[in-house]
Amino acid sequence: MDELHPTEFHANLDGPGPNQPRANELRANAPGVSRPGPGRPGAEELGVSGLGVDGSGAEEPGADEQGVGELGVGGSGPGGRTGTDLGRVGGRAVEIVAEHLAALPARPVWQPVPDAARAWLGEQDLPETGRPLDDLLDDVRARVLPHPMGNGHPRFFGWVNSPPNPAGVLVEPLAAALNPSCAGGDHAGPHLERSVVRWLADLVGFPHPPGGGLLTSGASMATVICLAAARQRAALADGWDAREEGLSARPPMIMYVTEEGHSCLHKAAQLLGIGARNVRTVPVDGSYRMDVAALREMIAADRAAGLRPFCVAGSAGTVNSGAVDPLGEIADVAAEHGLWFHVDGAYGALGVLADGAAPHYAGMERADSLALDPHKWLGVPVGCGCALLRDPGAARAAFSLVPSYLVDDNADDLGWFAEYGPEQTRPFRALKTWATMSYLGRAGITRLVDHTTGLARTLAAMVEQALDFELLAPVTTSITAFRHRPRPDGLDALNRAIPGAVQARGNAFITGTRLGGREALRACFLHPDTTERDLAVLLEEIRLAAKGM
Ligand SMILES: *Cc1c(COP(=O)(O)O)cnc(C)c1O
Repeated sequence: MDELHPTEFHANLDGPGPNQPRANELRANAPGVSRPGPGRPGAEELGVSGLGVDGSGAEEPGADEQGVGELGVGGSGPGGRTGTDLGRVGGRAVEIVAEHLAALPARPVWQPVPDAARAWLGEQDLPETGRPLDDLLDDVRARVLPHPMGNGHPRFFGWVNSPPNPAGVLVEPLAAALNPSCAGGDHAGPHLERSVVRWLADLVGFPHPPGGGLLTSGASMATVICLAAARQRAALADGWDAREEGLSARPPMIMYVTEEGHSCLHKAAQLLGIGARNVRTVPVDGSYRMDVAALREMIAADRAAGLRPFCVAGSAGTVNSGAVDPLGEIADVAAEHGLWFHVDGAYGALGVLADGAAPHYAGMERADSLALDPHKWLGVPVGCGCALLRDPGAARAAFSLVPSYLVDDNADDLGWFAEYGPEQTRPFRALKTWATMSYLGRAGITRLVDHTTGLARTLAAMVEQALDFELLAPVTTSITAFRHRPRPDGLDALNRAIPGAVQARGNAFITGTRLGGREALRACFLHPDTTERDLAVLLEEIRLAAKGM
């Protein structure tokens, strides 16, 4: 299906050929319409017609007359293009968006990018003169959209990557049109960010003092912010200033993470000068959760050696198996030793909403900081992370640096978002997050989490019932870790080869990992339209891919 000429694509959409749903079926396949999953309330409104594909949007009174020419976008000055009709071309862009989303489920989940397409994408020259907007859309439709990563498809189970929520998709151009810097100031972006951050904290039951968090590019950046706050708090508590002095002349600061902790924790510690050798690997139990007794011993040993334990990072949903560390017990240890307690809930914090899951998360609300990614389970279009802070002042102490050209005498007590992290010019991430959360509502978000965690449990049950599969970890969130076991030996090599072979077949997408010293397969469920039937397809695809290996 790559390199489709737009008219061929139309033909394909309309043609009732085998495996090609008819146009009205595709329409019905618009996100959440024919595959009524949770998390897509009122999807009919936002089906293809809601996105304007049937053209009804263009009939709105005045939409045409008021077009862009009059609004000045088509100006002939440098940077503007005479005769540009953003209203009309924008309508085309929306059609393409809706068509793309509607067609996704009938397409291969993923396919390798053919050489010619890769060359076009990767080796272009900057055009000498500007090109018409319509041509750009033609290129996007024919040469970009046919090569997705796969995460929009209901049978994409790789890593932790969700499909985009349609409400988030819808407002992305509006954020770009407003194009503020949300560093701070008195305009819509920073104000809306206050609401959205509070919503996120409330949703997962994290305490939220005014200003207790900010949106980031993702959890990696959120983690840098949280650990920088932790580092500065520890230094100030010891009577010195890490920003002023740097770390070199002081006893090493020590941080504790399990081997299941995300790589972003290590990257942040390295970036902040903690040093990889000062990040301790705490052992895990048989469920891949932190062994808290071992944590205590390690802290005691480090203290005895004159080092400075300053932070323990627990996971609320690991990437490998979705494990949630015993957060309450870790909170106890952190409190005893005066350590900063960080929780990586980038993927899994939302899992607290699943029916019966709350006890697994007890203690998350006691953390000093929580990283949570709206662009994971919530489906906010990439990128949007969030750092939540029990004491926002700790982040401000780590980052605030206001030069004279940025002093804002009208700012409130919280100041600017830019004082709480490394970014100065900040995009309007709040709009797509606000739209996604508003569209789903608390009930829709809970349904999405319930549905996807249910899929993970169902797959685990299917795996346990099958003689040729083996479950490798308990299911706590929406990840199932398992392996194929069609024979007694050579299983590591086999399971290592399976993900690539499954991906290449195009019917499902799964990725692998190492878990407890064994090669594992893992499936992560985030798509509201994934069904139990898709789980059966996944297991069959693994069997077929493994045949003859
Ligand atoms: C995705 C993820 C991260 C990293 O977040 P980014 O948004 O990719 O920067 C950290 N921890 C977990 C558990 C994740 O799933």
